[in-house]
Amino acid sequence: MPGRRSPWMDTPDGDLDDFRDLARTFCEKEIKPNLERYIANKQVDRDLWNKAGEVGLLCLSIPEEYGGGGGTFAHEVILIEEQSRVGDTSWGVSLHNGIVAHYILAYGTEEQKREWLPKMASGEVVGAIAMTEPGTGSDLQSVKTKAIREGDEYVVNGSKTFITNGALADLVVTVAKTNPEEQAAGISLVLVPTATPGFSRGRVLDKVGMKGQDTAELSFDDVRVPVSNLLGTEEGQGFVQLMQQLPQERLIVAAGNVAAMEYCLDETLRYVHDRHAFGRPIWGFQNTKFKMAEVATEARVARSFVDECIELHLAGKLDIPTVAMAKLWCSERAQKVADMCLQLHGGYGYMNEYPIARAWADLRVSQIYAGTSEIMKEIISRSLPAPS
Ligand SMILES: Cc1cc2nc3c(=O)[nH]c(=O)nc-3n(C[C@H](O)[C@H](O)[C@H](O)COP(=O)(O)OP(=O)(O)OC[C@H]3O[C@@H](n4cnc5c(N)ncnc54)[C@H](O)[C@@H]3O)c2cc1C
Repeated sequence: MPGRRSPWMDTPDGDLDDFRDLARTFCEKEIKPNLERYIANKQVDRDLWNKAGEVGLLCLSIPEEYGGGGGTFAHEVILIEEQSRVGDTSWGVSLHNGIVAHYILAYGTEEQKREWLPKMASGEVVGAIAMTEPGTGSDLQSVKTKAIREGDEYVVNGSKTFITNGALADLVVTVAKTNPEEQAAGISLVLVPTATPGFSRGRVLDKVGMKGQDTAELSFDDVRVPVSNLLGTEEGQGFVQLMQQLPQERLIVAAGNVAAMEYCLDETLRYVHDRHAFGRPIWGFQNTKFKMAEVATEARVARSFVDECIELHLAGKLDIPTVAMAKLWCSERAQKVADMCLQLHGGYGYMNEYPIARAWADLRVSQIYAGTSEIMKEIISRSLPAPS
């Protein structure tokens, strides 16, 4: 595609190009040949995490003193892009790297950081974050899971659902009420190692798309963890911590959507040049050229906006409504792009063995997780000025 080199790729020492080579080689060698197995098993191989840890692909933007790569959010985006380039949506690494590890880095005590981050960087520990419950998702303040203090322990009870990395996770950042009488002010984040008695996993869920990514139900039945597993200096900070970290999560989704649009474009360009009808390549019809022109434009516009957001985020200046716009726009346009590209594949576009069919199904969830499109519109509309 008439590509644009993202300005954030240009660092003084050019290290991001080297990192992209590393990520590309890993995705080509360790992921691409195994995609079908991940999908059949509804999860990646456990040792993919260890292999990634060995080559330095975990905890990319965590400081080296905690075992991380010492990189920036740009490194996270590159890995997302390279995963997308091989058509992978199975490996929940962006959640482990860009979300779970950052909760521990931002709010963990020195002891918590030293205990968990090096293990997350090596792949010994896989991370998950459990907010959503069977009865509540968007309305996070209404979670029912409780973490009630008894002496030096929290006793955690409740159920979570739709949890990414749920089946393989060793550590779950758990959203729970330490004070069930309160709404937002009663929420805390508690680290729950999955080896703790009383913790169990339910089904690995059968999804419309992203079929190789383990998305599971979790259950907490009198799970006792030390009070030192609280994230943050005091109880009741969980909701604010979530609000502070959700922008990065949403930017991860938006960046993945841009990469997916470019993937759909590349896959479809290849297909329409190969496939023939009425004695000519599908590309020979004006409709095809026009649709591909639309797709290329959508991808290019989305990349420009997301690049701007990435640069703002790297500078610590990305605000919540702007990232909500990026997540809203990119997730909805990516679905439109995948749909146009699927149509150009004809019947093959509806076959799961074709990458475009998978992309179409995989992308649908982007309008739902990390805050639905409707919640993004709520956030954006609240930021609009009243007429003077
Ligand atoms: C594949 C997958 C992976 C996921 N991974 C994780 C994970 O790792 N951790 C985690 O905690 N969660 C995860 N989730 C859960 C996800 O974040 C929630 O599904 C999402 O936040 C929506 O919550 P809900 O499903 O309860 O829908 P609901 O909140 O019940 O929403 C239903 C509908 O009502 C609309 N709605 C709700 N409130 C409003 C409002 N105020 N105004 C207008 N419309 C509204 C919604 O937009 C939606 O259209 C995942 C979900 C999926 C599908």
